Amino acid sequence: MSLTLENVSFRYPGAAQGLDDVSVQARQGELLAVMGRSGSGKSTVLRLVAGLLDGYHGRIAIGGEDVAGVPVWRRHVGMVFQQYALFPHLSVAENVAYGLRMRGVKTAERERAALDMLDRVGLADLAARRPMSLSGGQQQRVALARALAVSPRVLLLDEPLAALDAGIRQQLRDEIRTLQQASGATTLIVTHDRDEALSLADRVAVIDNGRLLQIDTPQRLYDAPACATVAGFTGLSTVLPARVTRLGMVDVGFAELHADTGAWRPGCAVSLLVRPEHIQCDPPVGTVNRLDGRPGAVRFFGASCRFDFLPDGAATPLLGESRTPATLAIALAPEHLRVLPPPVN
Ligand code: ADP
Ligand code: MG
Repeated sequence: MSLTLENVSFRYPGAAQGLDDVSVQARQGELLAVMGRSGSGKSTVLRLVAGLLDGYHGRIAIGGEDVAGVPVWRRHVGMVFQQYALFPHLSVAENVAYGLRMRGVKTAERERAALDMLDRVGLADLAARRPMSLSGGQQQRVALARALAVSPRVLLLDEPLAALDAGIRQQLRDEIRTLQQASGATTLIVTHDRDEALSLADRVAVIDNGRLLQIDTPQRLYDAPACATVAGFTGLSTVLPARVTRLGMVDVGFAELHADTGAWRPGCAVSLLVRPEHIQCDPPVGTVNRLDGRPGAVRFFGASCRFDFLPDGAATPLLGESRTPATLAIALAPEHLRVLPPPVN
C-alpha cells in the first residue's frame, strides 16, 4: 500500500511547533527513512499516520484511502518504538500474537503465526520466556515480530535501534531490511542516525523544525543536498559563505573558485559545499581551484585520514579525507563543488 501525506500541518495544543505543510509519499513496499534532529517532528509524522494524534490539516492516505477519522486498529499499521514496549506479563509468543488476538484470530492459528514470526527473527526457542529476561536486541526483535505478525499495510518504526549497542544495531538494521522486504510492507523508519538512514532506506525525507527540507534517494541527498542543513545531516562537509561573481565563479573571501553556479545570479550570496573526499591533495601547479596553504590536525581512521587544511587567507580550515593528507596545497574540482542557498540566519 502506498502512503501519502499531503500538505499536512499539525500543532500540539498550546505548543509552538509541530508539522508545517509536510508532503511525503512512500510507494508500495518502499522503505522511507525520516531523518532530522531531535524535536524536528519525526515522531509526530508517525503518530499522525498511526492515528494516535488527531486534529491535523491536510490529507493522509493509506493505499489511496483517506484515513481521517479511521481509528488506530483499523489502519492496519504495525508499530515499533525505541523503548521495546513489550507487555511484561505476557510471554514472548503471547506478545507476538497480541495483535492477532485483538483481531479475533483463533488460539491455535495465532500461536502458529506467532511461532512462525519468531522463527523468522531467530527467536523461536525463546517463545515461552518473559520479555524482561531477553537482551535489548532480542526484545526489539520481538517487537518487530509483533508488528509484522498482523501483516500490516504500513510498518512504522520509531528509532527502533537507538537504544541498542553499535554491534547489535548494525546486525538488526540488516535484519529489518530483510524482514521488511519479505513482508512487502510500506515502511517509515524514523532515525537521527545518518548511516542508518542512508544505508537502509530507498529514500530519505529530511525534516527540520517541522518542515520537509528534501526527500530523495540517499545518493542524491548526499550528492545534491538542497541546502547546507541537509548536507550536514548526510555527511561531513565544510560549508563556506560565498558570493557568485559571474557565471561559473564564486568568491569565498580568500579565493575565487570555479563552480557550477546553476541558476544563481552574479551578486547572490550563497554557500559553497565541500565534501572531505573531494579535496585533492597536493595537486600539480596549474590545477583548477588550486589553493596553497598549511596542513592542520590529522586524525587516522584506518582506511583513510581526516585532516584539516588552512588555505592561505582563510579564517577556518577545510576538512579533507584521503590516504595521505595534503601538505602544501589542495584543489577543489569544480564538478564536485555544490553551490547552495546561503545560511538562513
Ligand atoms: P522528534 O521525534 O523529531 O524528536 P517530535 O515529533 O516528537 O520530534 O516532536 C516535535 C515537536 O513537538 C517538538 O518540539 C516537541 O517538543 C513537540 N511535542 C512533541 N510531543 C508533544 C506533546 N505531546 N505536547 C506538546 N508538544 C509536543
Ligand atoms: Mg521522536
